[in-house]
Amino acid sequence: MRFVSVGDSRDDVTYVLWDIDGTLIRTSGAGLRAWEQAIAEVLGRSDGLAGIDTSGVTDAEIAVAACRAAGVDEDGTVSRLLAALEGLVPGELSARDGRVLPNVRENLEALSARDDVVNMLLTGNLASTGRLKLELFDLWRFFGAGGAFSVEGIDRAGIARRARDLAEQHAGRQLAGEQMVVIGDTPHDIACGKAIGARTVAVATGRVYTLAELQRARPWRAFATLPDPGRLWEALMAG
Ligand SMILES: [Mg+2]
Repeated sequence: MRFVSVGDSRDDVTYVLWDIDGTLIRTSGAGLRAWEQAIAEVLGRSDGLAGIDTSGVTDAEIAVAACRAAGVDEDGTVSRLLAALEGLVPGELSARDGRVLPNVRENLEALSARDDVVNMLLTGNLASTGRLKLELFDLWRFFGAGGAFSVEGIDRAGIARRARDLAEQHAGRQLAGEQMVVIGDTPHDIACGKAIGARTVAVATGRVYTLAELQRARPWRAFATLPDPGRLWEALMAG
C-alpha cells in the first residue's frame, strides 16, 4: 500500500472530508445524553437541550445556544460546558450500543488503500470526543491525515475552512473545489461543504433528516445510505 505524504506532488488526489455522527456512526443518543448532563452540571438545568437544534450543529455552537437559553453569560461558561462534555462522553459511549453505519468501514478501507485519496474529518465534535467515538469503533485508524473539529468561537463553515487548509497543507498545494468531497447527514454539512467550494455528498443515515429534506439543500450527490465502495467511487468520479 502506498501512502500520500505531506507535499506529495500528485495533483489528482481527492480529499474526502467525513462528518462523524449520523455519517460514520450512530451512538444511540450518547452525545445528546452527555450534553444534557453537562448542561445540568454547569448550568443547573434539567431541560438543557429543549428547543436547541443539535443535528449537524457544532459542540461549541450547542454550548453557546445552551448559555443563551439559560440567560447565562457565555464568557467562560462555554469552555466549562465543553470541558464537562469531554468528561461525560466516554461514560455515555460505553453505556450505549452504538454502531458503524452501513458500508462505512468498507468504503474507508477501500479509499485508504488508494494512493489518490486521503480521508480526513470535518466534524462538529470536539477533537477529543470525535477521536473517542471513532476509536470505540476502530475507525480512528483511517484518519491518520487528521481533520478539523469544533473549536470555541468557530462555526461549521469555519471548521470547513480549517479542513480545507489542512488538506492543502497535506497536498502541499492549493486544491480545486472538485478535489474535495464533504460527506455528511445534515443540510449543515452540505452548506459548509459549499462554503469551501467542495463537492457535497448527503447521506440520510442520521437521526433527523430524510433523503428528501437533504435533497432540498441541493447536495452534489444524495443517498439514502452510503453506497458500497464500487458505487460510491463511481459516483464520486462521474464528474
Ligand atoms: Mg452528522
